[in-house]
Amino acid sequence: MPVALRQVHGPLGYAWNLPEAAMTETPIEDEPLMLTPGPSTLSARVKRAMLHDYASGEEKMVSTIAFCRDYLLDICNGKGSHTAIPLVGSGTSGVEAVIGGFVPENGKLLIHTNGIYGDRLLEVARRIRTPHASFRTAPYTPPTAQQFEEALRADPAITHVMVVHCETSTGIMNPLAEIAAVCRRMGKSLLVDAVASFGAFEIDARALAFDALVCSANKGLQAPPGLAWVVAKRAALEETKGNGHSLTLDLWDQHQHLERTGQFRFTPATHLLLAMAEALREHAEEGGVPARQARYRASWRRLVDGMRQMGFSTLLDDAVASPIVATFHDPDDPAYAFSKLYLGMKQRGFVIFPGRLAAANTFRIACIGVVTEADIGRALDALAETLAEMGVRRMGRAAA
Ligand SMILES: *Cc1c(COP(=O)(O)O)cnc(C)c1O
Repeated sequence: MPVALRQVHGPLGYAWNLPEAAMTETPIEDEPLMLTPGPSTLSARVKRAMLHDYASGEEKMVSTIAFCRDYLLDICNGKGSHTAIPLVGSGTSGVEAVIGGFVPENGKLLIHTNGIYGDRLLEVARRIRTPHASFRTAPYTPPTAQQFEEALRADPAITHVMVVHCETSTGIMNPLAEIAAVCRRMGKSLLVDAVASFGAFEIDARALAFDALVCSANKGLQAPPGLAWVVAKRAALEETKGNGHSLTLDLWDQHQHLERTGQFRFTPATHLLLAMAEALREHAEEGGVPARQARYRASWRRLVDGMRQMGFSTLLDDAVASPIVATFHDPDDPAYAFSKLYLGMKQRGFVIFPGRLAAANTFRIACIGVVTEADIGRALDALAETLAEMGVRRMGRAAA
């Protein structure tokens, strides 16, 4: 199909032919609901918060940054012991900043993986040459404390452990409290990728005593993508002075500047920070972490039950699954193709996600963002309609 073009004249008289689609704005209300594990659908209120311009040093920006830092520490019981540091970038920037900053040259990081995001921790450590070891456990069952204990005993050079809390590639929850207890008992520092879980799960900085935890704006916090946040133990952060492998990702440096001036070292993402603050006020008004989790859980329960009723099967047992995202096996029917399902759902107002390599022949539907149980009900109807249109009759999984 030819792309419709429209000629546009610039200020200096140049003319461009731009695709029509790039020129038209979809009204906020008509946009499809994203059932994807980040970015997620934001409220109109959070999107509107971005419609203001501020210079970096203005009082409004300083107070906005201070509010966000304070709120994040508050919901993870980190006031006093920990500090919250924003960085411009996606969640992976936060991961890279933590691995590069917190593991000293003479240290060694043990990375656990049971999915794509665990593998990404490894990729970061390799790329920035952080001394590390890794261990992999089965993707569909959580690791045990004993497996961590054994991995640590096997290599006494290890100083730090890094784990993913909710592994978004499958939706599995890793047992953070048990892992933290092993680290405490064995005198190892704990680093956590809580990008998918933060804001929707109780995480207690003092009880877990982690050195650093990474989260990002665009998942459970329901703010626009583009800001990574690190919650760092103050005493441990102090020791990272000069460790930073990178200027832009130097957490110690960003932190000392924030504490002195209330500002970022370099251009802050002003519009994103305004939206983040609005998203956090929304989080508080909803009832904080327990209420957000309850809403995600109600959506997820409806989704999983509805899909099973249609004949679909889930990749994970409910007992180890998180309410962030559910992974379903592709139907065993020659009429099925993910691309067709995707398009049919998009036409009906919903965006869904393919599975990841870790779980081939699956697709994912997430429950984060402004999504409610009623939205999931409508999405299930749209799914049934799309599958009927495609001529898919057998929803069950192919025999292995
Ligand atoms: C989304 C996510 C990240 C970060 O991914 P980005 O694409 O950099 O935002 C890291 N870890 C987990 C568990 C995630 O879900």
